[in-house]
Amino acid sequence: MKRVGAHVSIAGGVENAPLQASSIGAKAFALFTKNQRQWKAPKLESASVEAFRKNCNDGGFKPEHILPHDSYLINLGSPDTQKLRNARDAFTEEMVRVEELGLVMLNFHPGSHLKEITEEQCLKFIAESINIALEATHSVTAVIENTAGQGTNLGYRFEQLAALIDQVDDKSRVGVCLDTCHLFASGYDLRTTAAIESTFGEFDRIVGLRYLRGMHLNDALHPLGSRLDRHAGIGRGTIGLEAFSYIMAHPACEEIPLILETPDSEEWSREISLLYSLGA
Ligand SMILES: [Zn+2]
Ligand SMILES: [Zn+2]
Repeated sequence: MKRVGAHVSIAGGVENAPLQASSIGAKAFALFTKNQRQWKAPKLESASVEAFRKNCNDGGFKPEHILPHDSYLINLGSPDTQKLRNARDAFTEEMVRVEELGLVMLNFHPGSHLKEITEEQCLKFIAESINIALEATHSVTAVIENTAGQGTNLGYRFEQLAALIDQVDDKSRVGVCLDTCHLFASGYDLRTTAAIESTFGEFDRIVGLRYLRGMHLNDALHPLGSRLDRHAGIGRGTIGLEAFSYIMAHPACEEIPLILETPDSEEWSREISLLYSLGA
């Protein structure tokens, strides 16, 4: 089964996320496990964790259908020693939080070199950061998201994702989340079946489809290769519906979270139905 959902809100507590997901007909969801604009978060209350697990169970969401996203403040490739240490602490804390919730993945953007170090050095820092977090936890998988390549963000080429995985010690606990808007913005064409097939083929050759643990389904506001990270509603951007039909039929996308991060939450329920109709 395909597991389409959206990145839902945790207003009022993490336990509300699965309720909102159910209310829009989602079969998967993403969430922040804390306020993503703040470094520090209060500890998760055990009542909140219990309610979260119960609501997930009631809604039919298994841990592998839930894709938590880390804070945007974290730069795991920071050229600044102190900032890198802070980022690693915060990331490890989020990995621990994911385990406390009974979940199995944490999705994150690799990091930015800020023009102060080489891409290669930055990738090395990021991979070390992943190794540190994996060592401090037991079972959670670090899921690297491909980026649009905006600014100095790395992870916009499959070769960079492969270089990261290559330097991670425990390959069983590293994966990839492909964001369609980011793919398109970073220059990977998806607009026709032939184009997306060739993009998926390239990903399989360079990284490996076995590492695909989730996707973000977003149309794009800007043209191919814009390097701009601006999402659009499904079928309302520069990518178009053919790409999403392909994804909804692809065996590598079975039973992994396929998450909408489209701009209008009022449209999610309609977009989820639309995506299911494409795969039928
Ligand atoms: Zn994304
Ligand atoms: Zn984005």
